[in-house]
Amino acid sequence: MRKYIFYKNKVCLTLLVTLQTLRTAGTVGVAVLINYLIDAVSKAIQYKQTWMLGKCAVVCCIYALLLGLIILLGEKVAAITFKRTLLNIRSAALDGILSIDVAEMQKTNSAEYVTLLNQSISVYEESYLKNLLSIYDSILGMLIAVGLLLYINPIVAVISIIAMAVPGFIPKLFSGKMGSQQGKIIQDTTAYTAKVKDILTGYEVIKAYRISDLMSKKHTESASEMEQSKVALANTTAWLYGFANMASISVQFLIMTLCGIFAVRGLVTIGSIVAVTQLTGQVISPAFQLSTKFSQLKSTEPIRNQIDSIISLSGASNDTEEPKELKQVLSLDNISFSYGDSPVLRQVQAQIDHGKKYAIVGKSGSGKSTLLKIIAGYYKDYSGTILIDGEPARSCSQSLISQNIFLFDDTIKNNITLYRNYSDDSINKVIHMAGLSELISRLENGLDTEVEENGARFSGGEKQRIAIARALLHGKSLLMLDEATSSLDNERAQEIEENILGLKNITCISVTHKLYSNILRMYDKIFVMDEGRIVEQGPFEELIKNNGLFQKLYATGIG
Ligand code: ADP
Repeated sequence: MRKYIFYKNKVCLTLLVTLQTLRTAGTVGVAVLINYLIDAVSKAIQYKQTWMLGKCAVVCCIYALLLGLIILLGEKVAAITFKRTLLNIRSAALDGILSIDVAEMQKTNSAEYVTLLNQSISVYEESYLKNLLSIYDSILGMLIAVGLLLYINPIVAVISIIAMAVPGFIPKLFSGKMGSQQGKIIQDTTAYTAKVKDILTGYEVIKAYRISDLMSKKHTESASEMEQSKVALANTTAWLYGFANMASISVQFLIMTLCGIFAVRGLVTIGSIVAVTQLTGQVISPAFQLSTKFSQLKSTEPIRNQIDSIISLSGASNDTEEPKELKQVLSLDNISFSYGDSPVLRQVQAQIDHGKKYAIVGKSGSGKSTLLKIIAGYYKDYSGTILIDGEPARSCSQSLISQNIFLFDDTIKNNITLYRNYSDDSINKVIHMAGLSELISRLENGLDTEVEENGARFSGGEKQRIAIARALLHGKSLLMLDEATSSLDNERAQEIEENILGLKNITCISVTHKLYSNILRMYDKIFVMDEGRIVEQGPFEELIKNNGLFQKLYATGIG
């Protein structure tokens, strides 16, 4: 992550550190000016030397003006530096998330990533990045103040240095606890985000089954758990603040008593007393605040580790092999696969010729969808070999249209083109092929109609047609359909299947449960699956003649 803070932001960071150094030095230096100003005032009263006072006043005005300008510039540069750093970290985190393969992603709760991109990165900004700058500011301010104290009054300087050592042990008392509390906050916020996501996605079920009260109760439980863990951290921080401030004030009282004694004995001027008062404040308070800041910094460790591990996923994936384009033949040789301990595919042997159309049928749970996902490269831990045009490949370049169609919250056009540039002619062609022309001509804004959240305004069938147009437009030579026409009426499904089956130079593998002879006859070959195996294969008429499992499925209409 250092890369995003330091290397990718060198110019801004150098400017920020320079301005912060000037600002801190300037702020601490005010004590010296006050020293001269008060001494000049006393001389003006005692010896009527007003020219000294005038000169001092001009210097003070210029000093104040310059310091104000430095602070203004410093704030602006800090805002730009933080913006750039956080943008880099957010983009790197998203790249990391996008590097996770589909199978792995399905195992995790996406709420974890939502929390990371929102909450965790904001905490990182406040408690780590801004805190780091503030720690630099405190340490630098203390060093300059000690230097000036040594110059003005070495005895007070030495006592201040000893006092600075006291807060050293405070962070050890709190940092461990604060770290685990910060970890609990992330955990509870993730659980809360997941709960909210569930409620919003399951909105229709909640309304239909009238469980609003129950869900509201569950939401309150989860929200209060999250708030409670924040209160626990605030509680520890409160103890830390209280403890640090109490110790800081006591040390300052001690130093002021000493200054009083020196003043009574005439060892220091009035100006020096005011300067020493100001400077000791600038040593002792930051020293005690540092302990709080270091504890807070340490408490961000779980968040930093989480962000680091997500960022490191980007580019670390060993899946660098591009999916291969099918030109002649795709062979599945002895493919076996299990979800955990449950075998789903067993020694699958199949050959897919380029340009031909294949159907896969079988009872529910027989492994049809899993086989398509293996060809698509979703799962890598299968045994056996996939050969594309005679060469081993981990996956094949394809478009997979599955049962759950996802539409982005954007226009129909962008959902079809997926933000790539295509000519109007090619878009219109796929719209016609997917049977979308009538729907689009009915819509006032045509292709530019917003689909609304996940296509809320379209029927399941319409969403499927958008997905089919998307796949056709992206022109992969292998089109795989996983019960893609399941929510269409028979007439519409048949029309779309006919369109797809009529596509030249496109290989098509379609998992279908609509066992209609007129459609099934159009496939070059039908694979029949049972318990993870291909138990029969051949054209429709041949399978019917075989009088095996396919004949039974066809007779009962189950597939
Ligand atoms: P089909 O498409 O023939 O209905 P699937 O390939 O979807 O069958 O599923 C085959 C078996 O694998 C089923 O028993 C199903 O419950 C199981 N299965 C599917 N997906 C997963 C998954 N992600 N994790 C664990 N088991 C799964």
